Amino acid sequence: IIQLQNIKKSFDENVVLKDINLSVGKSEVVVIMGPSGSGKSTLLRCITFLEEPDKGVIRLGENEVTAGNQPNKQRKATIRELRQNTGFVFQQFNLFPHRTALENVMEGPIVIKKMDRDQAKKKAIALLTKVGLADRMDHYPAQLSGGQQQRVAIARALSMEPMVMLYDEPTSALDPELVREVLLVMKDLAKEGMTMVVVTHEMGFAKDVADRVIFMDDGVIVEEGSSQEIFNNPKEERTKQFLQDVG
Ligand code: ATP
Ligand code: MG
Repeated sequence: IIQLQNIKKSFDENVVLKDINLSVGKSEVVVIMGPSGSGKSTLLRCITFLEEPDKGVIRLGENEVTAGNQPNKQRKATIRELRQNTGFVFQQFNLFPHRTALENVMEGPIVIKKMDRDQAKKKAIALLTKVGLADRMDHYPAQLSGGQQQRVAIARALSMEPMVMLYDEPTSALDPELVREVLLVMKDLAKEGMTMVVVTHEMGFAKDVADRVIFMDDGVIVEEGSSQEIFNNPKEERTKQFLQDVG
């Protein structure tokens, strides 16, 4: 469902992604780990052209975009569609501060999908209930805990019915006691067959949920395999070292 081919990205002299190839199948859960600065966020951002890669091809479902081509109408439309098919959840929750949880989740379907208000509301209520926030719908972000805000952010991403969900360290801004509730929601979604790519250092989550774990360092995929393979039997020295450092 996602295919990245020969993705390269530099910021000035700094080569951040060096020829990344990655395919993610439908309903697959891929966890990406790696040291700070290894290019994990840049890779996720390149998938949706939040960051334009210098080289390579990105495919998401039917949409295919080649990096470096001249921007034109068609290309912009394809990128827009590609983004609409992707739910992105960031470390910082990025909710609209002056809108309630419910309004935050209704916004996308109304503005972008032109859904009528009643329908959008019904949908938002269902999604907030699903993430365990049925009793917090009328709260503003500032009145919610970090874990609750992040669950609103997940519901908001889901409201667009994305083909894939991308998570960039969704729990690393949270107090430890709030991490679990967010991971549980993600785990439920995985069980329902949602395709997801998750940058996280939560090994427990990776062990329980990941179909595949990717270890990145210095702009390359150093090693990938099942969580079993990566955690219990890493082949590469850099992977071993990283696991020692975080474990
Ligand atoms: P972390 O675990 O700290 O989030 P990461 O693996 O997500 O790290 P990236 O954020 O992708 O790493 O950054 C990789 C490299 O790219 C770093 O050297 C960073 O300084 C650089 N970088 C990222 N974004 C930009 C940008 N917009 N402009 C210039 N350099 C950038
Ligand atoms: Mg990052």
